Amino acid sequence: MHFQDQVVMVTGATRGIGKQIAKAFAQQGATVVVIGRNLDLVQETTQEIQREGYRAEGFSCDVTNLAHVEEIINKILDKHKSIDILVNNAGVTKDNLLLRMSESDWDSVISVNLKGIFNCTKIVSKAMLKARKGKIISIASVIGLTGNPGQANYAASKAGVIGFSKSVARELASRGITVNVVAPGYIQTDMTAQLKEQIRTEILQMIPQGRFGSPQDVAGVCLFLASKQADYITGQTIVVDGGMAI
Ligand code: NDP
Repeated sequence: MHFQDQVVMVTGATRGIGKQIAKAFAQQGATVVVIGRNLDLVQETTQEIQREGYRAEGFSCDVTNLAHVEEIINKILDKHKSIDILVNNAGVTKDNLLLRMSESDWDSVISVNLKGIFNCTKIVSKAMLKARKGKIISIASVIGLTGNPGQANYAASKAGVIGFSKSVARELASRGITVNVVAPGYIQTDMTAQLKEQIRTEILQMIPQGRFGSPQDVAGVCLFLASKQADYITGQTIVVDGGMAI
């Protein structure tokens, strides 16, 4: 899979899964645009990819802010003329049981995980429609398929991403644009590092492969979905969870 001369925008690319996705595309020849809120981390990640000999640039942007998303995407388009691949990866958790979940914990998770994907997809797809090609990949979660106690906000946001993507896949299919979802299980990143030891042990017992996934496990599926080999796949959700949700 080669992405020479292609421009890939990855949201939440300063850590964990998103950073690995950005690196994987850069290693295959793409110009990667790193998006995250923290400017220092954006610059650090961009420079790290450049030091390895690949092409990257970065912007600090909060995906929940439509006007800012539009401004940044227009800057990218002014320079590169196209965004060939969008990976909607930015996401947060604010876990609590429903009765203890505050309105702001609900709103902030829905805002980043679901509205953020609406914002980026809406603006990028305009340029993809003109180009009559494009690949849009969003990172949901297996929790959006199964639900999980303590994660009603997160599960709702990720189930929303799947429904959103199926609808947009139908809208954009005739214009050469595919829209797919990757639903990871438990992947070793900062997000899962917060789990208590006992919970980690319990989760491991639910995973037939007996291990947490790595960011590379997720990045490989994104490379495939963005490649020519996946041209006839759209509106799908690929689960990457070591068999947890079989
Ligand atoms: P991390 O917490 O390690 O990284 C999240 C990234 O998103 C960071 O780069 C963060 O940067 C960015 N981000 C958060 N909020 C915003 C925002 N409003 N605007 C722009 N960027 C933002 O998460 P993971 O790598 O673990 O997860 C990545 C994705 O994969 C998420 O969507 C998550 O829900 C999903 N996922 C993760 C799983 C796991 O086990 N780790 C399992 C299933 C799904 P900054 O804070 O600087 O903005």
